[in-house]
Amino acid sequence: MKLLAHIILLIVMMNCSGNSQVILQEQKNDTIMKYRTLNEFEQYVILNKGTERPFSGEYTDLFEKGVYACKQCGAELYTSQHKFHSGCGWPAFDNELPEAVLRVPDADGKRTEIVCATCKGHLGHVFEGERFTPTNIRHCVNSVSLVFKPAASKPYDTAYFANGCFWGTQYWFNKAPGVIKTTVGYCGGHIENPTYKQVCAGNTGHAECIEVVFDTSKTDFRTLAKLFFNTHDPTQVNRQGPDIGEQYRSEIFYTSALQKQIAGELFVELYKKGYDIATEITAFSKFYPAEEYHQNYYEKKQGIPYCHIFKEKF
Ligand SMILES: [Zn+2]
Repeated sequence: MKLLAHIILLIVMMNCSGNSQVILQEQKNDTIMKYRTLNEFEQYVILNKGTERPFSGEYTDLFEKGVYACKQCGAELYTSQHKFHSGCGWPAFDNELPEAVLRVPDADGKRTEIVCATCKGHLGHVFEGERFTPTNIRHCVNSVSLVFKPAASKPYDTAYFANGCFWGTQYWFNKAPGVIKTTVGYCGGHIENPTYKQVCAGNTGHAECIEVVFDTSKTDFRTLAKLFFNTHDPTQVNRQGPDIGEQYRSEIFYTSALQKQIAGELFVELYKKGYDIATEITAFSKFYPAEEYHQNYYEKKQGIPYCHIFKEKF
């Protein structure tokens, strides 16, 4: 586990030294994607590497909050945070979501083509050194290669955090503005329907974890992930204070490419502040709610956590 965290850290740091990309090398979700049937013009651009006329695409001047996905396969590629106005006539992004876009030498021998990492559909070209934004990168993408998903279309979102005894984790997340519901349980292991006793024995691979459902109009994943880091010691490996064991490890289980990106950015931010972060960032697979007597433990006991002390780190 520690080794994995260090590998992730090294990769994050290497990429951050050159630009603001955060690329994490965990296993991808084995999601089976259904490809969209493309019309003639979409085939011309996405399959045959054509280019739409400048200023003709529907997303060139769109700056609404949301995510841009691949038109052909639906994989999320860019967020509105990455988008900027280049004046070139095509949508421009100064960064991509982790592992979303592949760079390949263009057939013209000069430029660098960008394609969707999942379906290899043509997106456009990437240019460096133009000094449009601090990352110094411009992904010049055909609107027709993209589908925009407005942020407002998803009123609720879910996040999964593990940071020691889940009683204490839940204590803090229950107090967070915009949180609708929390449930404590188990994530990241290798057996079905684990019990508390099995997880405590330390050989199921699960972490004590919390499921947080939140209102995206009132809070966001970045705010909640900061609360996660602020309410435990993320430098401890496989323990949190007096609670020792793999089930008490620090881990974020991301459910989208955007969550993964944000978790990576916060990881790097804390590392740069001198924290030797042990937090793992892993693709979410399955959550098993814990037994009822573990739910809202501190509310029932009217107590406060012994192991989750708030300390502002950002
Ligand atoms: Zn694709």
